[in-house]
Formats: sequence, C-alpha cells, structure tokens
Amino acid sequence: MIYSVIVDISASEVDRIFDYKGEGYKVGTRVLVDFAHRKTEGYIVSVKETTDYDPSKIKEIIHPLDDFEAISKDLLELGEFMRREYHLRWVDVLRLFIPAEMRGNRVKVLSKKQICLATNDSLDVILSSLKPNATLQRDLVTFLYLNGATLAETLNNEFSYATVKALVSKGILEEHEIVIRRTPYKDLKVASADKKVLLDFQQRAVDTVLSDRKGKYLLHGVTGSGKTEVYLTIMEQIVAEGKTCIMLVPEISLTPSMLRQLRERFGDTVALMHSGLSIGERYDEWLRLKNGEAQIAVGARSAVFAPLQNIGAIIIDEEHDSSYISDFNPRYNTAEVANFRAEQNGALLLLGSATPNLGSYYAAKQGKLKLIEMPQRINQKPLPKVEIVDMSLETRRGNRGVFSNVLKQRLAETLEKGNQAMLFLNRRGYSSFLMCTKCGYVAKCADCDVSLTVHREDNMLKCHYCGKHYYMLNKCPECHESSFRMGKIGTQQVVQLLNEMFPNVTVLRMDADTTQTKESHAKILEAFRKGEAQILVGTQMIAKGHDFPKVTLVGILDGDQSLHHSDYLATERTFQLITQVAGRSGRNEDTGTVVLQTYTPTHYCLQLAAKQDYLGFYKREISLREASAFPPFAEIVRILYQGEKENDCIDELTEHYAELSNLKGEYSASFYYMDKMRCPLKRAEKKYRFQILLKLNKDALEEVLPRIHSICDDKKRSSVQVFVERNPQSLS
Ligand code: ADP
Ligand code: ZN
Repeated sequence: MIYSVIVDISASEVDRIFDYKGEGYKVGTRVLVDFAHRKTEGYIVSVKETTDYDPSKIKEIIHPLDDFEAISKDLLELGEFMRREYHLRWVDVLRLFIPAEMRGNRVKVLSKKQICLATNDSLDVILSSLKPNATLQRDLVTFLYLNGATLAETLNNEFSYATVKALVSKGILEEHEIVIRRTPYKDLKVASADKKVLLDFQQRAVDTVLSDRKGKYLLHGVTGSGKTEVYLTIMEQIVAEGKTCIMLVPEISLTPSMLRQLRERFGDTVALMHSGLSIGERYDEWLRLKNGEAQIAVGARSAVFAPLQNIGAIIIDEEHDSSYISDFNPRYNTAEVANFRAEQNGALLLLGSATPNLGSYYAAKQGKLKLIEMPQRINQKPLPKVEIVDMSLETRRGNRGVFSNVLKQRLAETLEKGNQAMLFLNRRGYSSFLMCTKCGYVAKCADCDVSLTVHREDNMLKCHYCGKHYYMLNKCPECHESSFRMGKIGTQQVVQLLNEMFPNVTVLRMDADTTQTKESHAKILEAFRKGEAQILVGTQMIAKGHDFPKVTLVGILDGDQSLHHSDYLATERTFQLITQVAGRSGRNEDTGTVVLQTYTPTHYCLQLAAKQDYLGFYKREISLREASAFPPFAEIVRILYQGEKENDCIDELTEHYAELSNLKGEYSASFYYMDKMRCPLKRAEKKYRFQILLKLNKDALEEVLPRIHSICDDKKRSSVQVFVERNPQSLS
C-alpha cells in the first residue's frame, strides 16, 4: 500500500504530502519515516493503491510510533476544514490534535510498584508458614489479606521494604509494575456532590437545549444566573445517553471553583485539558479521553480538539472571551471549529455568556442560533448597584489620587461590615512608564516600541510585550539629570496605597506577576475565599467566573482604560469587561455595590454597562457597526508583515499591495476599504511591523480570500513573515 504522510518538520516551508510504502497501517497513525536522509516523525493522512511517483524510489515506513491511531478520521476531516478555512499548513493543524509531548517521544509512562499476596490460601494457612515472632511479616501479610494489592509507597509508611523483600523471596508476596494515570487536581476537596434543584428558568433552558440534539443555541444569562448548573445538567444527560461532551472555558486554571464542581459532579468521567498541567498529566488526560475512560473534556480553547468520538454536546462558556481566537500560528476561531465538530458529530452546540459577542447575538437575532435568555440572578438577588464617579470632577476638587472619595468611603464601609472587596485595574506593575522631567525621555524596550513599566518589588523596568528586564534608571541616559515622573498607577502601587490606608487589612494581588507558578492562581483565590484577606486587587484575571459570596464591593479604578483604543472592538471589550467585573459583586448575601471610576462618565458604553443593559448596548453598537460596515456586516482582513529588516518588509508589502490593487479592480464592489500602513505597535521583539488592512463584503469572501492567500503565499523574502488574519482581535 501507499501511504500519504505529512512529515513533522516545522522550520521548513514544506506543506506537502509525501508517499511511503508499507502494509497494515491505519490512517491517522504516527510513523517514523526517512525524510531527506533523516529519521523524521510523520502522520499518515491517507492511503491509496498507486502513486504517481516512481515506485522504486518510494521508501518504506520505518515503524509506527504508537500502537493506536493518534488522530481519528473525524479530526483529519476537521484538519481539512481548518486548512481550507484558515489557510494553515497540514503539520501545524495536526500538531493541534495531539499533546505536544507525544512528539519527539517525550512522554514518560508513570508506573509504580504494587505488592500483593502470591497465593489464594486463607490467612491462617499463610500465617502458619511464618515464625510466631516475625511480627512485622505477620502484620504485613494480614494487612494485604485485608486490603488487597497496595502500592509499595503506601506500605512503606508502615512496613520496611526489607520486610516486603523477605516475603517476596519466600514466595508469599509478589511485586508488579502498574501504570498509573496521573489525575490533575485530584486533591481538590470534593464535598458531597450537592446537586442543586434547577430553578424554573434554568430547567426551561435545559429543556430547550435538549429538545433538539442537533441545535445551535446562544444562552444569554446575566452574571450569577446559574449558567454553570445548566451546562452541567445538559452534560449529565448527554453522558447518560452514552455520548461524550466538550466544555470550553476561558483560562480554566483561573477557576478552581469550576474544577471543583466538575470533579464533584462527574468524578473521573471528566478529563482536563489545559496548559497548567504537567506533561505527564496532560498526556494521561488525553489518553483517557481517547480510549473512552473519560467522556467529558473540559479545558481552554485547545480542548475543542479533544480526541472524543460520538460527541453529543459542545459547550462554550463565556463565549465572548478573546482567548477563543488564536492570534498566532495556527490562527483559528474556536467557535467555528466547534461548529464544524458539532455538525460532523450531529451534536448540539451551546454558546453561553452574560455579554455575548455582538456577532453571536446578531446571528441569534437572524435565527442562526436559538436564543435562550436568563435575565434574572439566582435567588432574585438584584444586580449590583453601580455608582459612576467622574474622575475629572474629583481632580478639580483636589483629589489627585487613584481612589475617589466615594470609593474610599465604600471600602471603609465594606471592611467595617466584615465583607470583602475586589479592586480591578488592568495594568500590572507599579507604574506604566518612567519619564525624565527635564528632557522628556521615556524609557523604552530596545526590541519593542513599548515604554517600560516600573516594577517596585524587584526594582526593575520591564517590557510587558516581550518580557525583557532592565535595571532601574538612576539618571536619565539622555540629559543625565535624575528627576523622573512616573506614569499611570499599576496594581503593585494600588496594593501599596491600600496598605497605607488600611494598615490592619490584608490585601492580595492577582496578576501575571503573582501567578507565575502552576498553583498560584488557585492559592490566591482560595485564600481570598477563605477570608484570609479582605481585599483582592487584580487585572482581568479577577473578572471571570469567580463566585465569592462575601464580596459586596467591586471598584473599577480605570473604566476608560480599554475604551479609547482605535480598535473597532474597543467599546465591545470595555462593555464586556466592566459587566463581568461588576458581576462579581453581591452574588450572595448582601446586595453588591460597584464603583466605576472614569473620565468619560457619560459615554454610552459605561452608562449601559453600569445598568448591565446588554440589549441596550447591543442595539446601539450593532447599528454603529452596520452604518460603518464593520463585522458582523463586513469582514476585516489584515495582512501583517514582520521582519528585522525594515526595508524588506516595506518591499514585500509594496509588491503585494500592487497585486491586491489589481484584485480590488476586479472585485471593486466587494472592497469597502484597503490601505497600507505601519502598525500602531511599530516594532516588537526586534521586528518591524507593517500591515495592509482590507474591509470586504462578506458575500465576496469565498472568492476573494483564496486570491488574497495566493498573493501572500508568493512571498519573495525569507526575512519577512506574512500573516493573513480574518477579523483579528487586535489591530495593534
Ligand atoms: P453564572 O455562571 O451565570 O454567572 P453561576 O453558575 O456561577 O452563574 O451561579 C451563581 C450561583 O448560583 C452559584 O453560587 C451557584 O452555585 C448558584 N446556583 C446555581 N443554580 C442554582 C440552583 N438551582 N439553586 C441554588 N443555587 C444555584
Ligand atoms: Zn520588549
């Protein structure tokens, strides 16, 4: 037989199928082949009888790499779709489907020694063969008789290995190596699974979704309306019917409470897929899904590629979250991939959010998704009351600090009552930049067009783009004066100020700097939940999904921060973020309060977010998008050029632009807009950045997009990277 193999080489630009000979292989198997005189891993993607190449030159597959097909037929089909849709190389797609550590054979199977009795004799008989004074040996035999086979490491707590050895040599005990599956978060405290009785509106949502098992749904439920319970109930039903489920959540490692609920409800039926796991855990969880030991895959966006068969439901929680769009190679849109897998498996697709993506809500209004609304909070808890504070008024009144008087007062009241507060500021570090007051010099990263953030804890300047560290400046490198002014306040400084203001109060901080180790997210959140601290300060990490009963105050320190980006998504993002953050307040006992500080208090986005008025926001924003022809009414395509040689980038771009102009001539009605420019972020990680922006009529996309791809494939300079992005999440 002839097998078509994709070789697993990334550096090269090869995206071709190579033919190899062999017998008895199945499509989807990983194999070792000889490629350009090197032993290389590859994937069999199809099989055929004959080949167009000279059969005598076709090499034999060396051997398979696993004793199963790593990639199922379904996933190969999905791969074809992704290649077409996102213009990806085969190898980049295939790599998404297996745990990275399978490549290069980096998975270690975990095995442990287990000890058991070697005979089926009764206890009396065995004991009679031992000396009466061999107490330890007798105890050990009795223990194993009563408890059955036990891991050696467990026995070693009480019995020495010498005792075990002695009995093994007498033929009374046996040792075995057994394979251990690593289960992440095994130790999460599992309370008795308290299954909640669904409220009417939750039950209705469940019934609607289950009424059409191939349907596509958008669940719009305000924060705290109990969406999670709806998801869990649906999955329970689907699994009971013998099918499997995928549930996607943004950054699952941030939500240990979600993990706890899943373990409580589903035990070992659920497997977790996310980057916080160790290599071994990740592989074992993948394998448990692959061979049917687990039926539910939960994880961040990559869990959409879970190796499941017979999928009955795919659920995307917080579907508006930008982490569902991969914005580096391989670029893909998780919801579109999920949609393909759902159709392929005849599964239902459920998107859920308190603040749906405008595109999703529009699709629902158009009847492409069935809309389910849950407008109330569980237990009728009112949505938190939001006070908008005009910070320019505050400044005029002489308060130049980061906390408005209202916020200070509310903080004091909250602490007084023994409740907790969360303060949100999407800027980590101590302050956003360092500027010389004499000459205006601003410290910047040598590799990126980004000003450096001051970090006080280690007294460093850091680039938040590439992560590079620099020593703190004593003197201005330009004018040698040493008088500096600092930029906007970051989370570190907020904590410092709180410590000064409330010396007896414990403050925790959660941002990328405090969460560098695997468990640190969970630790901070657990400590806060247990009441070990009264205030939690954080970046957008604290916005999502957390459910802290004692939090009655949320302070949003800089509500404008993401509002005034030039991006067309800026308002939508800000609305979502503020609604989500505000939703953390008052979820249980007392009514919650939110203090929203801003310099543009009358902006519709903030006004509507304060009222948690999604529909009002949707109406306003969608008509703006329509009037200005932005998604979902048009398609934005950005072609990004990056390279260390500025002129090469410009030359490459100019050549493509000329060809694109011809294309525009051919399809003039479909091009709303086309222009070339430097990116707002001019340079990053030593590379210059340029872009061509196109705005296209959606109807023309099918014809025009492949033409754009082929223009961009015709790249002349190896020094320039070219990426084509559709509706990118950021235009920076
Ligand atoms: P959402 O995801 O919509 O913001 P959650 O799923 O976090 O909301 O639910 C909010 C709170 O309500 C959680 O503490 C959850 O345990 C609780 N809850 C959900 N459904 C029920 C129910 N049927 N009965 C009692 N409590 C519930
Ligand atoms: Zn940098």
